[in-house]
Amino acid sequence: MANSGDSITLKNIASHCKEYGFIYPSSEIYDGLGATYDYGPYGSELKNNIKEYWWKAMVRMNENIVGIDAAIFMHPTTWKASGHVDAFNDPLIDNKDSKKRYRADVLIEEQIAKIEGKINKEVTKAAKRFGDSFDEAQFVSTNPRVVKYKGQIADIEERMKTSIENGDLEALKQLIVDLEIADPISGTRNWTDVRQFNLMFATELGSTADGAEKIYLRPETAQGIFVNYLNVQKTSRMKPPFGIAQIGKAFRNEIIARQFIFRMREFEQMEMQFFIKPGTEMEWYEHWKEKRMNWHKALGLGEEKYRFHDHLNLAHYANAAADIEFDFPMGFKELEGIHSRTDFDLGAHEKFSGKKLKYYDNATNESYTPFVVETSIGLDRMFLAVMSASYTEEKLEDGSERTVLKIPPVLAPVKVAVLPLVNKDGLPEKAQEIMKEIMLDFNAQYDAKDAIGKRYRRQDAIGTPYCITIDHETLENNTVTIRERDSMKQMRVSIAELISTLEEKVSIKNLLRKI
Ligand code: ATP
Repeated sequence: MANSGDSITLKNIASHCKEYGFIYPSSEIYDGLGATYDYGPYGSELKNNIKEYWWKAMVRMNENIVGIDAAIFMHPTTWKASGHVDAFNDPLIDNKDSKKRYRADVLIEEQIAKIEGKINKEVTKAAKRFGDSFDEAQFVSTNPRVVKYKGQIADIEERMKTSIENGDLEALKQLIVDLEIADPISGTRNWTDVRQFNLMFATELGSTADGAEKIYLRPETAQGIFVNYLNVQKTSRMKPPFGIAQIGKAFRNEIIARQFIFRMREFEQMEMQFFIKPGTEMEWYEHWKEKRMNWHKALGLGEEKYRFHDHLNLAHYANAAADIEFDFPMGFKELEGIHSRTDFDLGAHEKFSGKKLKYYDNATNESYTPFVVETSIGLDRMFLAVMSASYTEEKLEDGSERTVLKIPPVLAPVKVAVLPLVNKDGLPEKAQEIMKEIMLDFNAQYDAKDAIGKRYRRQDAIGTPYCITIDHETLENNTVTIRERDSMKQMRVSIAELISTLEEKVSIKNLLRKI
């Protein structure tokens, strides 16, 4: 049996998602809308299950974390204070021949990746030449070619960092020119100047006649938490260290919105801001890095699919930041961010609103603006991670093929399918009886159409972990078979034990206990 593993592309996943009712391009009858997607019947179930796992792990399992649901619209000064009006920009450059637009920093990073590719080639070649005696660390620190490449990378990174930090767009353009970067489409180096482009969507509150006010669709959920810090702290009687969690929509006018649901213009975030005493942030930062990684790994998608990427270039408000990267079909990319944001946000809101957002500690008689460590994950990206790891094309021992979504049972959209072996002899009636009981506990699907093998394939394609078959023996002794999706093994259980057997396999409790 073969898992097609690395050869799976985003395209495979996107077309499977569409064909089986997980995700459709938004407003498809009008040819769709760039980088916006709609979740179908199975997609919305899967999304809800991911949310439930996150919410329970963060809010239910931590006595000092509470949840909120803030409005998408916020007072426009919020975005002044947060820095989004002035600094939520991407540096963009256009190629005059292809008319394509790129992020300048991404073009430069791709150039760095090319040089890294050259280093890897040298290492592979040398490893072959030296065999067992090869010392990679020594080789990369002494081989003149590798040392030269590493020097080039360091120079480029330094120039890019300085120009971005200084907002020097001319220097950024000059770097692209000096590196002789060509447009991958037209192949030319005919570039415009670099310009800043704000990623927030603006709209208007009130009618124009009233003197409408320009407001924004929130580009992150975090600010809804910061502006409510004091309300929540007081009403839930929390004291630092404590957290506020939220799941909600965010909007960004992404310029290079490609790669299916990896980068969307309307997406959902699951964020938690943890308010702490200044000076304790590194301890909490490490704590949340570890906790969040455990949350991911407990799902069993494969430990090798995750890695940390520590940020070297920190945003001005952060004193430590790391991404949890996932091995998507297009390689390792950011799935979640863990950031130590100091008191930047609360401090800025204090300044702009004139309201005190401090915590008064009775025990020490001191008052401070809490520091914040946040964990921020894109729900849609998490959905893509689950899909990428689950999508499998298999060749079976009998020579046939199947496409199966090996979604962790606890997240699977449909937990169990109820299938009468034949659509006669009293089997459908018995199956419906069972279905009525099962649907009280699990999302179940009844299917009596087509041969049983075909029905199994349909369930495989939507990731249903268990199929229950009602056959003639069921009528004699009240037992059914349960077929397990991944192994395709079947076992016979009594109807009386059915619910508890399924419960044991798909319960979120067992998963939460692991983390
Ligand atoms: P990227 O570098 O990929 O643009 P980011 O660093 O801007 O992401 P954050 O602002 O830290 O992302 O947002 C937190 C999380 O929200 C990201 O880790 C990602 O999972 C998700 N996210 C951000 N932008 C998008 C988007 N356009 N579409 C889908 N998910 C997104």
